[in-house]
Amino acid sequence: MSKIIIFGLSGLLVAAGLTVLAAQLGGSPSDTMRGAGLFLFSFGVMLAALGLYQQARRLKVEYEGAKPRQKKKSDRLCSVCNRERAEVFCRVHVLRLCLSCLGSHDDGKNCLYVPANRASAAYK
Ligand SMILES: [Zn+2]
Ligand SMILES: [Zn+2]
Repeated sequence: MSKIIIFGLSGLLVAAGLTVLAAQLGGSPSDTMRGAGLFLFSFGVMLAALGLYQQARRLKVEYEGAKPRQKKKSDRLCSVCNRERAEVFCRVHVLRLCLSCLGSHDDGKNCLYVPANRASAAYK
């Protein structure tokens, strides 16, 4: 509802501004009237932009709210034992590791670890 009001109002303001500006072309031009016309015009355009912005924001919120949440994925489990939740990710061996498997996996020189929740974004 408010969207229609905003766009209606902005349209009216733009039209009023244009009318005032057009009137300046014919009769004797006055700076005050031209300023008022420009003000009405730009205010109307700004209001329309604001309305569009709000609409876009609302759409974005609706879209993001409608998206199904798939946070709980089984691929977060440790790749070695497949039972416990992976806490770290070895970038060298491309393995998700829980804390108890981390000790046996680590070879002391090559392994490069990143947090598992960060790795899941990079390695699908
Ligand atoms: Zn494990
Ligand atoms: Zn490793």
